[in-house]
Amino acid sequence: MALRVAIVGGGLGGLAAALFLRAAGVEAQVYEQATELREVGAGIVVSPNMVRPLARLGLASALPSFAVRLEEAWEFRRWQDGRVLFSQKMGDECERLYGAPCYVAHRCDLLALFQGALPTSQLHLDHRCTSVRDEGQSVQLVFARRDGSEVRVEADLVIGADGIHSVIRDAIAPKVDARFSGLCAFRCLVPAERAPAMALRPVQSVWLGPKRHFVHYPISGGRFVNVVAIVPAGDWRTESWTAKGEISDMKREFAGWDARVHQLIDSATDTKRWAMYDRSPLERWSVGRISLLGDSAHAMLPFFGQGAAQAVEDAAELAECLRDVGRDSVSAALLRYEDIRRPRATQVQLMSRGREVRNHFPDGPEQERRDRELAEGDPLRQSAWLYGYGQDATPAGA
Ligand SMILES: Cc1cc2nc3c(=O)[nH]c(=O)nc-3n(C[C@H](O)[C@H](O)[C@H](O)COP(=O)(O)OP(=O)(O)OC[C@H]3O[C@@H](n4cnc5c(N)ncnc54)[C@H](O)[C@@H]3O)c2cc1C
Repeated sequence: MALRVAIVGGGLGGLAAALFLRAAGVEAQVYEQATELREVGAGIVVSPNMVRPLARLGLASALPSFAVRLEEAWEFRRWQDGRVLFSQKMGDECERLYGAPCYVAHRCDLLALFQGALPTSQLHLDHRCTSVRDEGQSVQLVFARRDGSEVRVEADLVIGADGIHSVIRDAIAPKVDARFSGLCAFRCLVPAERAPAMALRPVQSVWLGPKRHFVHYPISGGRFVNVVAIVPAGDWRTESWTAKGEISDMKREFAGWDARVHQLIDSATDTKRWAMYDRSPLERWSVGRISLLGDSAHAMLPFFGQGAAQAVEDAAELAECLRDVGRDSVSAALLRYEDIRRPRATQVQLMSRGREVRNHFPDGPEQERRDRELAEGDPLRQSAWLYGYGQDATPAGA
């Protein structure tokens, strides 16, 4: 009998898992609580370590049709005058070093790409998981539907891809609260025709200043500029991607900054405001026939733009571990997956947390040292480690 795999959560991680499993000959069922798949209006970096696995699925060739290919991935600038502190070339150099380009995309477009590649028969919308129980020989799941009915499912293994507030994680790991970073993010999508020219370059710009930083890059084939401004949260605690913020509050946060930052803020028509949480690394991802993937396993701050990339890496590795596995070997395969993925995802999670300090030094000795290091060379010394992950496994020219 074919392995019965249930994936809880139809975000980028859950859909990627279903796609890689399918390519490995395992047909997984994805159960998503929402009645339609939706992503928030925001940008996402599709870094080479995400592009390469997508190429193996035949999906990377679609990226140029909606994403922007970056020429520079990290252009750090000084808050006061826009002086460039460091710029990481990511054009042809990126392909040469990491075997794939680096893109920035609208999240909705990326999710649509994944959804379009998955047969509709494998996606079950309006299924909110309310209970998961490992009974040794199988796992029992219960899903609530909007009409009040319940659906019961039996699976040989369950993958929790249900995000930072995962119910699957709560079933297998000690319950821990998400850690509040003390920061919040203002996020805007600015139509290109309103944005200043410097924001339309195929560059991810990161302006560093005391206690805050300001990020922007073009998405959607250059039709919009994605803006993310990270500032102290004050008493803002709403952890929602859709909560509305005030542009005037955002503007006040950047008083005294370079005029180009204000030009970009002034060209925005509305903003969302999101309190930023992450989680500390888990000691286990897999127990018996249940395992975790993506944000449910390693929710991280977005300062390396790696959350979804790590979820895609998880998905690719999970599929390899489950290839040709029988029902009796599921637990061992999930432990193998965890052994391969947990050290790396944990390191990216902790590195992302480290940037909340380093990006925000007040002007003074620490900031001067950081800026000197930036001027002296590649501050992303981990680049090869980060972007080149599993590179040997990628067929040339994929
Ligand atoms: C501001 C910001 C910028 C970011 N930028 C980047 C970036 O540039 N690059 C990058 O790689 N990553 C980035 N990330 C991180 C990235 O968005 C996440 O890591 C990624 O979306 C995680 O995907 P996921 O599928 O694991 O979880 P999610 O996207 O949270 O998906 C979880 C899914 O599970 C569903 N679900 C939840 N509970 C249940 C349940 N009980 N039953 C059924 N379904 C359920 C949800 O409805 C949702 O669809 C950013 C994040 C933020 C907040």
